[in-house]
Amino acid sequence: MTHFQFGKKFQQKQKRSSSRFQRTLSITNISLSSFCSTNEHKGFELPGKGSGKGSACCCKGLGGDDVALPQVSFDQDESNLFYKIEFASEMHHSWWSVGLNEKQFLIIKAVVHPPYVWFGHVRLKEPLVDECITTEFENECRKIIITMTKSDDTRWRLIGAPQPEDNRIMPSTEVPLDFYPATIIHKEKLISGHYLIAIRTGCEYQFSVPVAWHMMIRIGDVYKPYSPIKFITAQQEAYYKILDNTKKRSSSTVTYFIIRIHPGGEITPKLLVKSGADSPTDLELGSVLGRFDTDWLYQTDRLLIFAGGSGIAPWTSLIKFIKDRPTFQVKQVVLILSCRVRNLEDMIWHPVWVTLSLLDWFFYVPYATLTSDGEEPRRFTLESIIEDLAQIPNPSGTGKNLKQRGVASGPEGFTDSCHSALKKLNFDEEDILLFRG
Ligand SMILES: Cc1cc2nc3c(=O)[nH]c(=O)nc-3n(C[C@H](O)[C@H](O)[C@H](O)COP(=O)(O)OP(=O)(O)OC[C@H]3O[C@@H](n4cnc5c(N)ncnc54)[C@H](O)[C@@H]3O)c2cc1C
Repeated sequence: MTHFQFGKKFQQKQKRSSSRFQRTLSITNISLSSFCSTNEHKGFELPGKGSGKGSACCCKGLGGDDVALPQVSFDQDESNLFYKIEFASEMHHSWWSVGLNEKQFLIIKAVVHPPYVWFGHVRLKEPLVDECITTEFENECRKIIITMTKSDDTRWRLIGAPQPEDNRIMPSTEVPLDFYPATIIHKEKLISGHYLIAIRTGCEYQFSVPVAWHMMIRIGDVYKPYSPIKFITAQQEAYYKILDNTKKRSSSTVTYFIIRIHPGGEITPKLLVKSGADSPTDLELGSVLGRFDTDWLYQTDRLLIFAGGSGIAPWTSLIKFIKDRPTFQVKQVVLILSCRVRNLEDMIWHPVWVTLSLLDWFFYVPYATLTSDGEEPRRFTLESIIEDLAQIPNPSGTGKNLKQRGVASGPEGFTDSCHSALKKLNFDEEDILLFRG
């Protein structure tokens, strides 16, 4: 199966389509000469007034494409350090994550071209007293300014030392992991064994997560990936905003997950243990990573989303992304959600999907797979899916050649069944994307 390997033909289509999308692959079009003429990596040495260019730009071939490194510079006033990074290519605020680890290691990740990430890793001259960082965007999120408070009022001649992997572009899965202290602030049972869990990180970690990417939750020495969710309806947003506000520390971020608890598991049962402040004391969150690129959805007439239980998590951000962009070219979304519950009303976020179904582009096909009194459970089979799809009208303006894509996430057996179903429905491998686990 092709997960995210897009051929040249697809990339050319993407370039053509760029004006219709919120983001483009314009990095492939950048004239590198305009960057390369200025540069030589100068570490972080600065002239006395702190106005010099701290770094750096080089050119690198990457999977056949040329990708430009950003302009990086360092500035300061009496009490603050300002670390600035600017890309020439289009960026979005959700493609940046910035953390200050152990008060001294500045770690920056910028998604320049999924799955590729620019990685910045600098050891500051000395540990800061205040670990709070703030981030500010300019130039339509191409530029980020990271502000840190100095430990004393002296001017720093050097910001510190770049670490070995600093200023490199690499697949997100190869970027070193970074973790930050976190606290569980809210737990809510959704269905048997599945919880909505809200985790707060402190002001040393500023991030948001690209559509259908994930993060690592670490407890002690063990860490595993989880997909942050996005709330979709205004009602949900309002409810959880209150929660955010009442339990907030300044500049902290609350990230929400839907997590299935595996009894006897290494991580998940610990998320439910009540200890002290209602959270494992050694809980950490970090390491935004993933591969999904929304450009993959180019000219999709119908998107089939299969989700088994907590497998709905990555698709919450995708559905919200499509909902928030009326001009985005996915004409129809069909959500096929399977949960081990007896009644449809008990499905994960059932009212949300019912509300969305009022919109003409969204169709909801629920499977409650446990028997309720006297009733046969709905079995998730190829025949049942074909039957369901037959009831759904083709999106308007589409002819015989309906362009369909399918995504699936859930336990392994579930995603395997979805894959077989999509193959039998004649989906090309390159139009199928599976998240297992
Ligand atoms: C990219 C990615 C994103 C993910 N996002 C989420 C998410 O948003 N929410 C979520 O709940 N999980 C998600 N997972 C799964 C998660 O990373 C862990 O694998 C899972 O929570 C295992 O928890 P554990 O350590 O407590 O159990 P483990 O110690 O790994 O396992 C305990 C027992 O549970 C069984 N088990 C473990 N995982 C599964 C499974 N998926 N299906 C069936 N049986 C299983 C094991 O076989 C074992 O018997 C994601 C996985 C990936 C790869």
